Amino acid sequence: MRNVRVVATLSGAVWMRRLAVAVTVAALLSFGLWTGTRVRAALGLAAAAHTLRGRVVAIDPGHGGIDPGAMGPNGLTEDSVVWGVSERLAAMLERAGAVVVLTRAGDAPATGTTSQGPVERRRFHLRQRVLDINAAQADVAVSIHANHFSSPSERGAQVFYNAQRFPQGKELAVLLQTQLARVVGGTRRVVSEHIDHYFLNHTAMPAATVEIGFLSNPEEARLLTQPDYQERVAYAIYAGLAYWCARLPSAARGGVTVPSSPHPHTASRP
Ligand SMILES: [Zn+2]
Repeated sequence: MRNVRVVATLSGAVWMRRLAVAVTVAALLSFGLWTGTRVRAALGLAAAAHTLRGRVVAIDPGHGGIDPGAMGPNGLTEDSVVWGVSERLAAMLERAGAVVVLTRAGDAPATGTTSQGPVERRRFHLRQRVLDINAAQADVAVSIHANHFSSPSERGAQVFYNAQRFPQGKELAVLLQTQLARVVGGTRRVVSEHIDHYFLNHTAMPAATVEIGFLSNPEEARLLTQPDYQERVAYAIYAGLAYWCARLPSAARGGVTVPSSPHPHTASRP
């Protein structure tokens, strides 16, 4: 009886040791693969970020001034959340040597004024922002917004584009969406074409609109107010822009091809 018990105990110890070794090996392999992937991604991004130097990147922090945009819990407004991400993104791009065009500073519209009502004033400011971006001859433009839906369970960042205006817009959107999923997580959404969107319809360069999350989702709204989360969202957009600029032929620097447009506000490059 004692022998049987001893044999059983020894077998258990051997099994436990083998399990421990297997777990350790698996953990080391996983860590090595994870680290390798992270290192490769970082090296890739460092090289890609180098191509941002000299690029003109327009950032449109959605809403602002008289237009707070969507409302979240506890008086949270879309314009403040997207400004937090936009100013972080602008700083990252400038550190990489890009020329950043922001369509507003803080809570105030960047330019222009009108004595008309709030709806017309909102339209005026949106038109003015697009005019500013086109006048700056940006290489790429990104408008940053936060989403809102009737169901509080909806969540996740999503990027929109208009490939009818610029076929490259879809590639830009996919790169941004991929980086948002990789860096921020919490989204299974895929890029979507949006052909009835003033910003995407009238910017004279490849552009995307990034909905960084849902203010109608209490958990996501809470995250979107946190500085470190805003930093991650900004970093994801920065990485997407870097990878997109890295794919541009160097001859296109300062001269992305612009299709002809019937709209009077759009301006082709000289
Ligand atoms: Zn918005």
